[in-house]
Amino acid sequence: MSTFLSGLAKGMATTARTMTQHAHTQQYPHVHPDLPNRSRGVIALLEENCTSCMLCARECPDWCIYIDSHKETVEPGPEGGRARQHNVLDRFAIDFSLCMYCGICIDVCPFDALFWSPEFEYSETDIRNLLHEKDKLGEWMPTVPPPEATAVIATDVTAVAASTAAPDSAPVDSPAVDADPGETP
Ligand code: SF4
Ligand code: SF4
Repeated sequence: MSTFLSGLAKGMATTARTMTQHAHTQQYPHVHPDLPNRSRGVIALLEENCTSCMLCARECPDWCIYIDSHKETVEPGPEGGRARQHNVLDRFAIDFSLCMYCGICIDVCPFDALFWSPEFEYSETDIRNLLHEKDKLGEWMPTVPPPEATAVIATDVTAVAASTAAPDSAPVDSPAVDADPGETP
């Protein structure tokens, strides 16, 4: 009995002590995590840019992109012009229960129609509900962060020429030629 009471007292003391300390766990869902800008949460579709070229579906290693389209004829604008055909997207779906988030589809899309969104709150209790159609993929577009600024390009031609020219002396931080190889710094 005394062992039980001393254990209980120790437990209560630990509880009282930790109640006053800062929590180290993330308090999700009450506090959202501060995710890196390029987090791979979900894939968003900009439908207007998609030409139904099928490149993403062909390159997807999991075959989890489903695309249906049909052709429509566009009448020529100016007189004497030629009627053209273009693809109209009927279906674009990604099965996120199969997707391994490799990003190949986004990389290969030649028309900038697919983007990473940091959105990650789309879990389902039924795995079959992870097949998302183009309307849902489009809803994630506003969550796509703007592209990061590209690196500053050197405009000083002299500086570029100097940096690419063959050095006429050993670099400052290169090891001395006559240094003893066995010698430690
Ligand atoms: S991220 Fe990879 S696995 Fe997922 S849909 Fe794109 S290509 Fe397929
Ligand atoms: S998302 Fe890009 S790669 Fe995929 S069908 Fe549309 S245009 Fe082609």
